[in-house]
Amino acid sequence: MDMRHHLEQNLRSLRMPGILDNLNTRLAQAQASDIGYLEFLSLLLQDERSQRDNNQVRKLLRQASFGVEKTLEGFDFRFNPTAFPQSQIRDLATCAFIDMGQNIVLAGPPGIGKTHLAKALGHEACRRKRHVLYKNVYDIFTELARARTDAHYERLLGRILKSDLLILDDFALRKFDTKEVEMLYSIIDARDDTRSVILTSNRPPEDWLGVFPDPVVGGAILDRLISGAIKMIVTTAKSYRKEGSKSELDKKEEITHTSKR
Ligand code: ADP
Ligand code: MG
Repeated sequence: MDMRHHLEQNLRSLRMPGILDNLNTRLAQAQASDIGYLEFLSLLLQDERSQRDNNQVRKLLRQASFGVEKTLEGFDFRFNPTAFPQSQIRDLATCAFIDMGQNIVLAGPPGIGKTHLAKALGHEACRRKRHVLYKNVYDIFTELARARTDAHYERLLGRILKSDLLILDDFALRKFDTKEVEMLYSIIDARDDTRSVILTSNRPPEDWLGVFPDPVVGGAILDRLISGAIKMIVTTAKSYRKEGSKSELDKKEEITHTSKR
């Protein structure tokens, strides 16, 4: 058996596809320059490591169930700079809030970028190897109810309870019924205040109590979710749905104007 074949076999059985995929490039690089043995080995191991990291992040992103993924790279900070200051969002993107078990509340009118930001922060958390789950809050109840009979229920509940960051989108959009409140309470309780939640809502937090059938239970849930949370409560901001596409057009026109000059 020739050496190359033997090496490839070993790399396969040791599950090191990162080295296998980059072997030709690294060999060519080594032959073309005078890199030492140690550097050559180090580069190959780095290739393996980057590939494993990428795979891990891809898996975390898949498990987060973002649907349409949103990123900070795709967020135009100039659009609503007062509502969502770039420096504050960049701080949140470091995920220090997750390490501290802090929650985030993003509330304000529709279309201003709350869901985008929540997903983008979730994306950053995945990049930093945290387990994230994104759900419309009302979908949690229907999905759990639908899956109640099989192992799918346990798996879904496990992910809801154990994720480092749970994103509950569209909180307080409509009234919760008693069963939903029971479920929500047990979820919040089991997550133990040490795992972070991001809540987004089109309603201001002072209206949230009104969506609970029992104000005492509602108060207890809200207290756990909101007290100590990082709050970004927006009263006035532009809707990207209404104006975003227009501003994209403006930008394109500006570019054409500049290029004509
Ligand atoms: P909300 O959750 O506040 O109702 P979304 O986050 O769903 O609003 O935003 C509506 C649409 O506008 C989405 O497609 C989102 O990606 C886009 N959007 C909102 N704000 C921005 C922004 N600042 N930069 C880029 N896209 C944005
Ligand atoms: Mg939204």
